[in-house]
Amino acid sequence: MNQLDTQLAVIGAGPGGYAAAFMAADLGLKVTLIDSQPNPGGVCLYRGCIPSKALLHIAGVILASQQAGEQGITFQPPHIDTAKLGRWKNDVVDQLTGGLGQLAKQRRVTYIRGTAAFSDRRSLRVNLKGGDTQKISFEKAIIATGSRATSLPGTMFQSERLMTATDALEIQSIPAKLLVVGGGYIGLEMGTIYAALGSRVTLVEMTGGLLPGVDRDLVRVLKKRIDGLFESLLFETTVKTMKAQKNGLHVVLSDNQDKEQTRIFDQALVAVGRTPNTTDLGLEKARIDVDETGFIQVDHRQQTSAQSIFAVGDVVGEPMLAHKAIHEGRVAAEVIAGRKVASEPAAIPAVVFTDPEIAWAGLTEMEAKKRGVDCTVTRFPWGASGRAATLGRSDGLTKLLVDQRNEQILGVGIVGPDAGELIAAGVLAIEMGANATDLGLSIHPHPTLSETLMEAAQALHGNATSFYRPLKRDSKAET
Ligand code: NAD
Repeated sequence: MNQLDTQLAVIGAGPGGYAAAFMAADLGLKVTLIDSQPNPGGVCLYRGCIPSKALLHIAGVILASQQAGEQGITFQPPHIDTAKLGRWKNDVVDQLTGGLGQLAKQRRVTYIRGTAAFSDRRSLRVNLKGGDTQKISFEKAIIATGSRATSLPGTMFQSERLMTATDALEIQSIPAKLLVVGGGYIGLEMGTIYAALGSRVTLVEMTGGLLPGVDRDLVRVLKKRIDGLFESLLFETTVKTMKAQKNGLHVVLSDNQDKEQTRIFDQALVAVGRTPNTTDLGLEKARIDVDETGFIQVDHRQQTSAQSIFAVGDVVGEPMLAHKAIHEGRVAAEVIAGRKVASEPAAIPAVVFTDPEIAWAGLTEMEAKKRGVDCTVTRFPWGASGRAATLGRSDGLTKLLVDQRNEQILGVGIVGPDAGELIAAGVLAIEMGANATDLGLSIHPHPTLSETLMEAAQALHGNATSFYRPLKRDSKAET
């Protein structure tokens, strides 16, 4: 067995792992990064964020061309070359993962292709891609092994008709009738892609609405568009059984009254959440504590119950988002390099890249209500935005949650095109402790959607330029 000594071993080269490895190398540590893929990137680059956003861009082009009919411009229905589309998407992935490989080399990070498990608190055993085994002794380690799709009982069989998000990203064909199970991030994003490409999409969601946990006023705007895009939405419904037959997938759906219906689909995509990758890692040998749902327990410095071992990203809990993992990875690297830092973000933004996008950061109305936080909600409807009108997208909404005592901005929620870009200003406002007056007095470029943040702040004082609303200070948090 080969033997390697390193100061820091990072297991998993997704956003959490590569961000940690690069930061540690920048701080002068000797770093070894281990992953089974040819280059760093993880689920996000190879099978998640990046390929889905490439395909959502194409979906956006198709949907925008359809909407242009409202402004008097009509196009022929698109001719879709799935092979070429797939090659373009794969090129984007190759370009970015190759770039990360280069960045690892430039930083002299040793990249090892294989799967690692702890032998004890100071060493790992790595099954190398070629079949050999390697022993790695480390001073410190970071676990950044991410998560995998949660499987749904009754749908755990192999069939080309049954897709995970990874399969769905391959766009092998465009099913005439697609079932999407789960009305969360993935179900909505992938459902949007397939609907734009021409599939008739039925979405089933276990709870009473799309994106459970997200403020309802934001979701309402998305739902209206999804109603027009998908063939049907079935709430409080789940899959009881699913069988692949010659003429399609025979699916028995059951609602909350146990009423059953059988439907036939060409393909189904199951997206009902994600599970942390914490099994097969030898955590017990390193005596690392996990909670009852499999998440590794860490403190604010990302340190596990084993002093020499840290953990970041999806393996340590919600929200399972790449940018949270990157932040935690960088913090862990700094702690290991001896800096006195901790991961204590005031706001972790979340974005659902649908059409329209939904984005939020900091406190939500749902959380405010649950925690009994006294806050005022101030809204700017995009019906009053000049820029939204020029885009034909006046249905959006920007809102701020403001501390009743000092008008400090505690949370921001946006629904509309480019909400994912706009939320960054909200994150900065929350992190910098800005109040509504700060935001309302900051000159925003006109005409842009970013003005909706400024005007939402002005609306708190009843003096937003673009719409008239008498002063109202007791807007209650919604359920
Ligand atoms: P999710 O938690 O966002 O949504 C899963 C949905 O499935 C929920 O609405 C849930 O109520 C529903 N559900 C669960 N069991 C069901 C059942 N038996 N029948 C019908 N519905 C059921 O999970 P996801 O969409 O799989 O995404 C997983 C994670 O990946 C997300 O939580 C997110 O952290 C991450 N992600 C993020 C992005 C992004 O940042 N834009 C995109 C994709 C994924």
